[in-house]
Amino acid sequence: MLVTSKAILEASLRAYKEDRPFGVGAYNVNNMEQMQGIITAAQETKSPVIVQVSRGALKYAQDKYLINIINAAVELAPEIPIAIHLDHGNNMEAIKRAIDLGFTSVMIDGSLLEDGKTPSDYEYNVRVTSEVVKYAHDRGVSVEGELGTLGGIEDGVGSGKTQLTDPDQAVEFVERTGVDALAISIGTSHGAYKFKGEPKIAFEIVEKTRQLLPDTYLVSHGSSSVPEEHIALINQYGGKMEAAKGVPLEALKKAITLGINKINVDTDIRLAATGAVRKFLAENPEAFDPRAYLKASRAAIAAEIKKRMEAFGTAGQTAAVPQWGLEEMKEFYKKN
Ligand SMILES: [Zn+2]
Repeated sequence: MLVTSKAILEASLRAYKEDRPFGVGAYNVNNMEQMQGIITAAQETKSPVIVQVSRGALKYAQDKYLINIINAAVELAPEIPIAIHLDHGNNMEAIKRAIDLGFTSVMIDGSLLEDGKTPSDYEYNVRVTSEVVKYAHDRGVSVEGELGTLGGIEDGVGSGKTQLTDPDQAVEFVERTGVDALAISIGTSHGAYKFKGEPKIAFEIVEKTRQLLPDTYLVSHGSSSVPEEHIALINQYGGKMEAAKGVPLEALKKAITLGINKINVDTDIRLAATGAVRKFLAENPEAFDPRAYLKASRAAIAAEIKKRMEAFGTAGQTAAVPQWGLEEMKEFYKKN
């Protein structure tokens, strides 16, 4: 069932308040096999899911192909609450296009200028985010903003500079913009190469922000774990990746207990897919049917996501999600 991300994140926030916290993964989709892998994992674990699409994905697959692939999953898995989310929207045009396509959730990343690279100033962020909130809420669509910047670059998004979120400023930002969800910078970064030494997460920022903003959904970007076994598999079968380090699942679990609701995962899906394809082709040098190796990638994606749905506690939570689609939310925002 298609719902807004507010519906799914509200279930997570309620669970946190009732002292049985769980987080929801937001998984990036670029093609059919990824979407099938994600929905298989959700069905096998009975998990609600946020499917997110980057501007790079819309360009790669063409927006019509991608939205129809996602809608096929919604139709074929009516028991799974699914939100379709735009990742790192950079301007009003991108937001409008996503909403026209039927997305139920958008991110406006006003921490960066429209180029998706240059850090903006705070007032710019407040202004563009507020404009998007007004436009999106009139249509029932949930909005995620971002305050602070993450390190790393992915899909051409990111300044490469880290600026951790100031919890006091986050309170003002949410009040002035009206965002439903806020991405905070807590030391994670985009891409596969997140940490040189031991991973360091600023848990105190999660704690403080959660305390000051009890009703805002908190989001952690750049939260792939970059499992060693995937890097090893890729390198074993002809790949060449340097030792990469992500955010350990244990750290993500701790962040969830401190109040993180949405966890963005992209790199891990890429690694799982690539490892599986490399292994399959190396072991089956005579194979030339793309279906054979894409099937292997699809199964690897499903297994990887299942692991996260279980670790984040999303498994078994489909019934906890209120049935808030765009129409219900349109009414809600009119009154609030
Ligand atoms: Zn991000």
